[in-house]
Amino acid sequence: MARYTEAQCRICRREGEKLFLKGDRCYTEKCAVERRRYPPGQHGQGRGKLSDYGIQLREKQKVRKTYGLLERQFRRYFHEAERRKGITGEILLQLLERRLDNVVYRMGFAPNRREARQLIAHGHFLVNGKKVNLPSYTVKVGDLVEVKESSRDIPEINNSLSKIEHRGLPTWVEVDSANFKGKVLHVPSRDEVQLPVQEQLIVELYSK
Ligand code: SF4
Repeated sequence: MARYTEAQCRICRREGEKLFLKGDRCYTEKCAVERRRYPPGQHGQGRGKLSDYGIQLREKQKVRKTYGLLERQFRRYFHEAERRKGITGEILLQLLERRLDNVVYRMGFAPNRREARQLIAHGHFLVNGKKVNLPSYTVKVGDLVEVKESSRDIPEINNSLSKIEHRGLPTWVEVDSANFKGKVLHVPSRDEVQLPVQEQLIVELYSK
């Protein structure tokens, strides 16, 4: 699958926000956004004011890159959100949050979504007792996500779980870290999706 290879911290700096793409480093003062709060590149500090379109575009890029999606994948989520009843921007975020790679990351089994995706693709996770190796799988309320028994000594998973308290768990999941299991309690509300974005701007962008 095609993927972006641009250095993770440059992505955050371009968006001017911490997108937590790396893992441990994101929670320390070594974070590049903490140290240099201006876009990367030679002219990073001299950029002018953004147009309305530019603001909408940056907001979309911020969300798309947070979840590590290509444009066409992101658009598919948007169209799905648009098709459903309710507030499109909110539904979009809820669909993205319920991707298996995001759930694995949010439950603390991986330090970031990129690693979560890799661990899932290598078949280390079960959903309701069945192996699922599709990072885009949509997790439902009540689903049990667990690390396969033979994969429970993988250092990346254990290392990530040991930092769970420091990182904090979202309220819409519960995790039994001793048994490498987690459950989705409910669909996250907008407040529970802790992303500093104005999703309405994405709706405006795609509605043009
Ligand atoms: Fe983004 Fe993490 Fe790099 Fe900070 S350390 S710029 S949050 S990827």
